[in-house]
Amino acid sequence: MPLMSDGARSPDLADRAGTGDLHALRGQLTGGLVLPGDPEWDDARRAWNLAVDQRPVAIALVESVEDVVKVVEFAGEHGLRIAPQGTGHGASALAVLDETILVKTSRLRGVEIDAGTARARVQAGALWEDVVVPAAEQGFVVLHGSSPDVGVVGYTLGGGMGWLARSRGLAANSVTAVELVTSEGKFVRLDSENEPDLFWAVRGGGGSFGVVTAIELELYPTPELYAGAMFWPLERAGEVLRAWREWTEAVPDEVTSVGRILHFPPLPDVPEPMRGQSFVIVEAVFVGSEADGNALVAQLRELEPAMDTFAAVAPTALQHLHMDPPHPVPGIGDGLFLERLPDEAIGAFVENAVPPLVSLEIRQLGGTMASSAQHQGAVGTLDAGYVMFAVGMAPSPEIAAAVHEAVDRVKAALGPWASARTYFNFAERPVGGARLYPLKTYTFQRLRKIRATHDPAEMFVSNHPIPPAVVIDTARIASAPLFADLPAAELEALAGAMGEAEVDAGTEVVTVDESGSTVYLIEAGEAEVIGADGPLSVTLGPGDTFGEIGLLLTAGKRTATVVARTPMKLLALSEPDFERIREQIPEFERSLRSLGLERSSR
Ligand SMILES: Cc1cc2nc3c(=O)[nH]c(=O)nc-3n(C[C@H](O)[C@H](O)[C@H](O)COP(=O)(O)OP(=O)(O)OC[C@H]3O[C@@H](n4cnc5c(N)ncnc54)[C@H](O)[C@@H]3O)c2cc1C
Repeated sequence: MPLMSDGARSPDLADRAGTGDLHALRGQLTGGLVLPGDPEWDDARRAWNLAVDQRPVAIALVESVEDVVKVVEFAGEHGLRIAPQGTGHGASALAVLDETILVKTSRLRGVEIDAGTARARVQAGALWEDVVVPAAEQGFVVLHGSSPDVGVVGYTLGGGMGWLARSRGLAANSVTAVELVTSEGKFVRLDSENEPDLFWAVRGGGGSFGVVTAIELELYPTPELYAGAMFWPLERAGEVLRAWREWTEAVPDEVTSVGRILHFPPLPDVPEPMRGQSFVIVEAVFVGSEADGNALVAQLRELEPAMDTFAAVAPTALQHLHMDPPHPVPGIGDGLFLERLPDEAIGAFVENAVPPLVSLEIRQLGGTMASSAQHQGAVGTLDAGYVMFAVGMAPSPEIAAAVHEAVDRVKAALGPWASARTYFNFAERPVGGARLYPLKTYTFQRLRKIRATHDPAEMFVSNHPIPPAVVIDTARIASAPLFADLPAAELEALAGAMGEAEVDAGTEVVTVDESGSTVYLIEAGEAEVIGADGPLSVTLGPGDTFGEIGLLLTAGKRTATVVARTPMKLLALSEPDFERIREQIPEFERSLRSLGLERSSR
C-alpha cells in the first residue's frame, strides 16, 4: 500500500465531471477507465515509487492514440487536467492530482526495430528492457539508463543519462521524432521539419507539452563493451572515491563511470555476499576492447577490491550493472549537480552516506554530454563535472521522514560544490523549472513560450511543470532605446515574443559568444560587465539592453560577461525568436543600425 499522502483530496469525483460523463467516456475507450470504488482502483493508481499516494479523478488505461485523443478531448470539455504516466518512477515530484485524469500508457508497449534506418519506434508505455533486448538481437545499443524497468519516454523527456552518456550523449538528444497528442486533442508527429519548436521542447522539457504516444530513437551499432564493478569495504570509502575521482580526470570519453556507497538492505532478493553489507563501489562501462579496458581499470585494481566483476560484456548486461531494485519500492531520494569534486567534497559525501540512506552515487559527466550540437533538444548540454543522487527506502511514514532528512543533510554538505542547475531526472522533489536549465541559453523562457502556445490552460500535469509564459505588454519595452523606433504593430510582435526572467545577485547572465543572439532588457536591478581583463566601468540598469549586440555598444568589447550585481528582473528574447523577428521586422534592423549595432559574425 502507498505510504505517504500527496496531500490530495479524497478520491471523490471532481465537481467538473459527473459520474455519468465518466462512465460514458469509459464506454468510448478501447482500453479501460478505472474510477474510485472500482475493484482495480488501488492497483491502477499505484506508481512504481510506492511512497507516492496518487489520487486522481480517474485512471485511463489507454490502448491506442484514439483512446488518448478521446481522454484529452473529454478533459478539455470538462475542465480537467491530464497526467501522462508510464511507470511512476518519477511520480514523487508530481503535483497533487485533483481534477486530473491519470493517463497510464503501460498497455502501449510495442517496439519496432528498423535495422535499415537504425531507428527504433517505441510506444509510450515501453520499458527500457523492451527495447534493449530486441535492439541487441539486431546488433544495436540504445541510450538506456541504469534500470531495465524505467519507462523509455519519461526517462528520455527528462534528458536520459545512461551508461553510454559520455560516449554517445543524452537520450533526449538522440530522439529523431515524437508522436504526441496536444491539449487540443490533435495527433502530431514532431521532428526537425514538423513543429520544430515543440520537438525541441519535449526533448528535455518533460511532459508539459502533450501526451507522447510513441518516440523514435537512434540506434547505435553494438560496439565492444567492457564493464563491471569493483567492491571495497565501506571503511575505505574516502580513499577509493578519491582514487576514482583522479581516475575520472584522465579517462577518455569512452568511459562512463559511477562512484558510490551502497548499504545493501538485509532482504531475501539481495544475493548472499552482499545482503546487509555496506560497500564503496566503482562501476564503469568502457566502449572498447577487453585488452584496452583491462589496461584502463588497472589503476583501480591496484586498490585490491574485495570483488571485481569487470569483463567483456554483451549490451544487455548493462541494464543490471547498477543493481537497481527489480520491482517497485517506496523510495525517497534527490540529486544535485556538482561543479567539481575536490577531496573536501568527497569527505562531506562519505561522512553523510549513512543509513537510512541505501544508495549514494556520483556519476561523472562531461564527454558528449558537455558538447553542444546543432540538433539538440531543450536539455542541451550538461556542463557540471559530476551529478550526485542519494536515496533511501521508506517503508513507514517515520522512516520516510528520517530518509528525507538524511537526503537533505547530504545535499547541504555538498552545497559548496553544487551547481545552480539541477538534473531533471534526479530531481525527485518539485523544483522550479528555471533550475533545470542553464540561464545563459534562455532555455526555460523559450520552453515557457512554447507551453503558452501549445498548452496555455496547463492541461498537462508533469513531474517538473513548465509554466506558460505571461504575455508581455508593449508598454514594458517601448521606452528602451533599442526598440524606440519600432512602429506599434512591430513593437507588439516583439513584446509577444519576449519572456520574463529573474536572476539572483551574482548570477552570470550572459557571456557573449556563448549566448548566441539572446537579447535582454533590464526592468529592475543592476548588472556589471566583465571583460577578459576584469570588470569594465560599465553598469547596466533599468532600460538598458544587453546580449551580444547590446554589449558591442555598451562595452565595445567582443567578449564579455554580464553579471547581476543585484537581483534582476529581465525581459528576454531568445535567439531563435530574435533571428525571426529581425527578418520579419525591418524597422528593428534599422533601429539596431541607428544605434550603431551592426550584425556581428561570431
Ligand atoms: C530506479 C531508478 C533508476 C533510474 N535511473 C536513471 C538513469 O540511469 N538515468 C536517468 O537519467 N534517470 C534515471 N532515473 C530517473 C528516471 O529517468 C525518471 O524518474 C523518469 O521520469 C522515469 O520515467 P518513467 O516513464 O519511468 O516514469 P513516470 O513517472 O511514468 O514518468 C515521469 C514523467 O515523465 C512524463 N511522461 C511519462 N510518460 C509520458 C508520456 N507518454 N507523455 C508525456 N509525458 C510523459 C510525465 O511528466 C511524468 O510525470 C531512474 C529512476 C529510478 C527510480
